[in-house]
Amino acid sequence: MAHPRVTPEDVALLKRVIGESHVSTGPSNLDLHSKDESYHEPHRPDVVVWPQKTEDVVAVVRLAGEKGYAVTPWCAGTSLEGNPIPVHGGIVLDFSEMNRILEIREKDLQVDVEVGIQYRDLNDQLRHYGLFFPPDPGAWASIGGMIGNNASGVRTVAYGATRDSVLAMEVVMADGRVIHLGSRAIKSSSGYDLLRLLIGSEGTLGIVTKATLRLRGLPPEYLTVVATFPSVHAACEAVSDTIRYGLNPAALELMDEAVVVEINRDRKMDLEERPMLFLEFHNVNEAALESQYEMVEAVLTEHGATRIDRGVGADERVRLWEARHGALESIKRNHPGRSVLLVDTCVPISRYAEMVDAAKAAVEREGVTGFFWGHAGDGNLHLGLLFDPADEDEKQRVQRVNRAVVEHSIAKGGTCTGEHGVGIGKLSFVEAEHGPALEYMRRIKQALDPKNILNPGKMLPD
Ligand SMILES: Cc1cc2nc3c(=O)[nH]c(=O)nc-3n(C[C@H](O)[C@H](O)[C@H](O)COP(=O)(O)OP(=O)(O)OC[C@H]3O[C@@H](n4cnc5c(N)ncnc54)[C@H](O)[C@@H]3O)c2cc1C
Repeated sequence: MAHPRVTPEDVALLKRVIGESHVSTGPSNLDLHSKDESYHEPHRPDVVVWPQKTEDVVAVVRLAGEKGYAVTPWCAGTSLEGNPIPVHGGIVLDFSEMNRILEIREKDLQVDVEVGIQYRDLNDQLRHYGLFFPPDPGAWASIGGMIGNNASGVRTVAYGATRDSVLAMEVVMADGRVIHLGSRAIKSSSGYDLLRLLIGSEGTLGIVTKATLRLRGLPPEYLTVVATFPSVHAACEAVSDTIRYGLNPAALELMDEAVVVEINRDRKMDLEERPMLFLEFHNVNEAALESQYEMVEAVLTEHGATRIDRGVGADERVRLWEARHGALESIKRNHPGRSVLLVDTCVPISRYAEMVDAAKAAVEREGVTGFFWGHAGDGNLHLGLLFDPADEDEKQRVQRVNRAVVEHSIAKGGTCTGEHGVGIGKLSFVEAEHGPALEYMRRIKQALDPKNILNPGKMLPD
């Protein structure tokens, strides 16, 4: 169904209801909200609205429902699959001004927030209470976008994805009604689990305005370990055994030598340019960490680690994690004018090494440049593929690599996306992954958003 353009009269109406300064049709604002951090083609909305409160969202959704306008929620726009790109135009709801912490319940390890708050700003505040919100996607993401994509990150191996850290949400549904999902209890057997259905739905089933998040205590002791290996395959095998032997890493990240080279070049660092694992362990005291480390060292050595650095100091630890988080940015900065297609797949941990081998073979077959890294402890691979956007042949070749890696992942019992979501980029794989279940997903969408106004063109292929 085509979505109409928002009329000047309705823009004027939005300005009257929500406030002149919170509604814009200015070209630079439309451009800013036409793209995310991916290589996908931009598409402008007709108008951008910055809601200040839940009632503003209700007003926008009601108008959209009446007129059939597309409404796309937007937080920080750091997605990597085109998830917030308003491919059907219409209204973008930018939550960056709904960014307050509403209540911290220290003793319950919970916080209530408006969804526009960035998780890093939230963690800066929570630090004073000895608490933190564990999902850590690295980019300057906001809670609403993390909920939208069910984001995860370097600490997911220990603490789970965003879905595991959200207890309750206030949601504006497509008919404009406001509902509350979940509760403050950390578990429940009550009713259908709409909370978890909406988390990861990329704004296609409802628009989240507030959330109650589950927090964790900051670990009293931590240990960062950097281990280098003769090959990526050896590093991947070490990952599988670290998990299998129950060594409980709080982070377990892989980088191949090409990524280390990019980081050294961009950040003027001198990391050894070999395949590398970054591991972090959290524990109650140094003695406990020490015995944990002895076992870790044995596993890493058994898999041929050529060097193991432990006891990285606090400053160096921050520098290392910033470098790891910034791997994609380093690659982009080092290769101006080139785009990056970032593959995101996830398989059972025992299949990780095999997936990386298959991905390397695809890269070689197509003669493209690929950088391997990922949340190895979760079985989650990222493969950055460089291409020249003006070179159609190279673009086709990186897309063929993407397809080969995604299909391999699905065939091995994995998924087409570990954390970046379906957006636009993974639409063509959803059917292969979900089969007949896709029909039931369509029925859910039809039941909750019968006019297809919420972020249309995402999640479910036409
Ligand atoms: C350098 C870099 C590194 C990254 N690393 C990771 C990583 O390690 N792990 C990871 O998971 N991701 C990673 N990402 C991707 C991205 O940061 C995450 O997906 C993040 O959760 C997106 O948050 P955002 O605030 O930018 O959301 P946006 O991009 O603005 O939106 C994301 C989705 O959520 C929907 N949405 C936004 N607000 C709402 C709302 N209020 N209600 C309902 N739906 C909403 C949007 O419509 C969209 O579909 C990385 C990105 C970059 C650029």
